[in-house]
Amino acid sequence: MEYQAVAQQLADEYGLISEEAKMKPIGSGHINTTMLLQDNHKTMVVQKLNTTVFPNPLHLVENARAIEQHLTAKALNGEYSLAIIKHLATSSGQYLVDINDEVWRALAFIGRSYSEDVVANEQQALTAANAFGQFAHALNDFDAAQLHHVIPNFHNLAMRIDAFNQVLAKDEHGRAEKCSDVIAAFQQQFALAEELQQAQKQVPLRACHNDTKINNMLFSTQSDAARAVIDLDTCMPGNWLFDFGDMVRTFCSPEAEDSTNLSNVQVRENIFAALAQGYIEPLQDSVTAAEKDSFILGAKVMPFMIGLRFLTDHLDGDNYFATHRANHNLDRAKNQFALYSSVLEKEDCLNNIIRAI
Ligand code: ADP
Ligand code: MG
Ligand code: MG
Repeated sequence: MEYQAVAQQLADEYGLISEEAKMKPIGSGHINTTMLLQDNHKTMVVQKLNTTVFPNPLHLVENARAIEQHLTAKALNGEYSLAIIKHLATSSGQYLVDINDEVWRALAFIGRSYSEDVVANEQQALTAANAFGQFAHALNDFDAAQLHHVIPNFHNLAMRIDAFNQVLAKDEHGRAEKCSDVIAAFQQQFALAEELQQAQKQVPLRACHNDTKINNMLFSTQSDAARAVIDLDTCMPGNWLFDFGDMVRTFCSPEAEDSTNLSNVQVRENIFAALAQGYIEPLQDSVTAAEKDSFILGAKVMPFMIGLRFLTDHLDGDNYFATHRANHNLDRAKNQFALYSSVLEKEDCLNNIIRAI
C-alpha cells in the first residue's frame, strides 16, 4: 500500500483533512518507521511500530503513556522542564490504528528541534546525558513495577550467555572455528554475569529508558540545549546502570559500532567525563551510593552484552541484526569487545571521574 493512501487513512483517524494529507520521512530511527503527517493546518508525527521487535504494541503504548502522564504532572509542578513526548488519540479515543495488518500511532510533533546520530563533542555528550539524567530523576518516584516488560529479559546477561551457548553448541553454519579466538575472549569474561547479578541486589528497581542513544533526544534549534527525551518504547523496569552503560557504549568511542579500526576503538575520557557529569548531576538527590558505584559495571556490561549478542547472531547465521557485508556481526562483536576491554583498562581512571562528581 502506498504511503499516500496510508496518509489519508491516518488523517481520517486523527482529524486531519484527508484531501490535504501528506506524509514524509523524519529522523533516522532504526526500529520503527517515523513520518511527519501534515495537512494545511496541522502537523503530527506518525510511527508504524515494528511488531517484530515489539510483539505487544498495546503494552508499549501503555508504558509510554504512564510515563508521559507522570512527567506531565511533574512539569505542572515545575519539577520537569523538558518537552514531553505525547501520544495523540484518534477521533474515537484510540492510541493505536491498524492499517492492513500494520500498527500505527501518532505523537505530538516537537518542533524547532533536531536530533544527532553521533556525539560530536563534549558539550553534546553533556547536554544529552543531562537530559537523560533529568528524565531519570523525574521518574525517581514512579513505581517501575507498573511497567510491562515489553522485551522480556532485555538486560539479562546470564540468559544472553545461555542463548550464546546454545547457538555455539549447534554451530549450524560452521562459523565457530574461524572465530574461535573471539569466542574464547568472550567466554573468559562470563563471570561478569554473576557480578551483575550480585550488584543488582544492591540497587533499586527503576523505570529505565533502555535506549539512551543520542538520537533519542531532541536538541533545540535555537539554543542547542536539550529539548526532549524521546523514544520511550523500551521503557521498562530495570536499573540505572544500564542506561548509564548504554551512554558510555554509544557516546564514548570515536569509531562506529561496526568499525574494524579496532586500535581506535576506546573510551574517550573527556567524553566519558562530560556524560558522567551531565547524567549524575540531576540525580544527586535520588541516586543511592551503591547505585553510583554500579555505573562503572554498567559501562562494562553494555558493550560486552551487545557484543555477545552480535557474536551469537553471527554464529546463528545473521537472523536478528541486519547485515550489509560478510562477517558484519562478527566485526561488530570484535568492536564491542574492544570497547569493553578499553573500559576494563581505564576502569580506575573512569571510576575516579564518577566518584569526583
Ligand atoms: P525509533 O524507535 O525507530 O528509533 P524514534 O521514536 O526514536 O524511533 O524516532 C525516530 C526519529 O524521529 C527521532 O530520532 C527524531 O529525530 C524523530 N522524532 C520522533 N518523534 C518525534 C517528535 N515527537 N517530534 C519531533 N521529532 C521526532
Ligand atoms: Mg529512536
Ligand atoms: Mg525506539
